Amino acid sequence: MSSIAETRPRVAVIGAGVVGASIALALRKRGARVTLIDRDEPGRGCSFGNSGAISPGSVAPLAMPGVLASVPGMLLDKESPLHLPLGYLPRALPWLLDFVASARPARVEAAAARLAALHQGAIEAHKAMTRELGVPELLLCRGHLHLYPDEQALAKDAGGWRLREAYGFHPERLERADIEALEPGMAPRYRVGIYLADHATILNPFRYVQAMARAFVAAGGELARAEVAALRRSNDVWQLQGPGLAGDAEFDAVVVAAGAWSRTLLAPLGVRLALESQRGYHLQFEGGAGTVSRTVVLADRKVFVTPMEEGLRVGGTVEIGGLTAPPDPRRAAVLERIARESFSGLEGLPTRSWMGHRPCMPDSVPVVGPAPGQAGLWLATGHGHLGLTDSLNTAERLCAEMLGPTAGA
Ligand SMILES: Cc1cc2nc3c(=O)[nH]c(=O)nc-3n(C[C@H](O)[C@H](O)[C@H](O)COP(=O)(O)OP(=O)(O)OC[C@H]3O[C@@H](n4cnc5c(N)ncnc54)[C@H](O)[C@@H]3O)c2cc1C
Repeated sequence: MSSIAETRPRVAVIGAGVVGASIALALRKRGARVTLIDRDEPGRGCSFGNSGAISPGSVAPLAMPGVLASVPGMLLDKESPLHLPLGYLPRALPWLLDFVASARPARVEAAAARLAALHQGAIEAHKAMTRELGVPELLLCRGHLHLYPDEQALAKDAGGWRLREAYGFHPERLERADIEALEPGMAPRYRVGIYLADHATILNPFRYVQAMARAFVAAGGELARAEVAALRRSNDVWQLQGPGLAGDAEFDAVVVAAGAWSRTLLAPLGVRLALESQRGYHLQFEGGAGTVSRTVVLADRKVFVTPMEEGLRVGGTVEIGGLTAPPDPRRAAVLERIARESFSGLEGLPTRSWMGHRPCMPDSVPVVGPAPGQAGLWLATGHGHLGLTDSLNTAERLCAEMLGPTAGA
């Protein structure tokens, strides 16, 4: 007779970013025997360097009609938030065509509805999770302030703001004096603001994932440092192969949460994902966190400024340049220039820069659920610009599908 322990499903989660770590922890809490596998330490991928914004109001996909009109100009402008090295264009073309098709109004509406559903309750979920992990100090609930130089710049984002309102968010319009009251150090360039009071910020995304991984291990989960090179299904079980993996490891189910690398891992199985890396950069000033007191978005430049635990983080840019090319220091230099222009107190502060791969679908909607035609294979990737925001809700959704909604947590 098999013991209770033996009847619980054995699940491998590939990728210990914020998405995989959330899933592993949620599955473990529901009693599954879970191995969380990453070639690096938890949280070292894209989840390491994001801007920490918990943004449930971001229901507008990236492919909006207005964005498309500005793309050619952006590509020619070396300082623009969007960069596409010409050499990578042939590789990126199929994804870009799909991206363009995603900007049709009907597809934008469909994407917004799916994003809104996934974002629902994100702030409350992160509030509960930071408490549960014993790191409540990581969550800052002071809203997000989006800034524009003038009405014209604000008008370019009108579609996105309309969508937010349609989904019940309450963007509050601010004039220069209101901006100064919230953030006294803001450069005079910014005269118009939109404030989302009910948005929040994680002040150290890496420490957050590390805390999740520790809680997972404390709950009896297994953390394995290994590179998964291949997945194979044989005799109703999944076998994983690669350096650092035991040859006899077998699983009833596998969750691929390998971020921007998920596509490569899945292709040999015939699972085709239109996933592309949007390389993003941050520049972190050592110190300077007091420059702003909440997430400030320099919306005309698509730059997020965050008062992180270890300094002021200035994050942004989209570079469609693939998974293998080294970071381009010119992208980080653009962020540095913008930061120094926008805030006066940064002189003399040392900086360090970072680049990470956002896992992006053309319509901005993550892929969460069973892999078509592959028993026991599950997908949780494509979270793009909002993987931190949607990590916990993704985990809940996937667990409910894998184990049933009533499985006791
Ligand atoms: C500059 C920037 C700012 C951002 N700001 C925000 C923000 O403010 N708010 C927000 O919600 N989101 C933000 N994001 C997006 C967010 O960071 C990502 O969506 C999220 O980190 C994706 O998480 P993930 O777990 O899917 O991927 P990752 O964190 O990349 O994790 C994937 C993991 O899989 C591992 N892996 C891959 N392949 C293998 C393999 N074959 N074997 C073993 N391990 C493997 C990797 O080592 C990695 O640890 C930002 C992103 C960037 C770049």
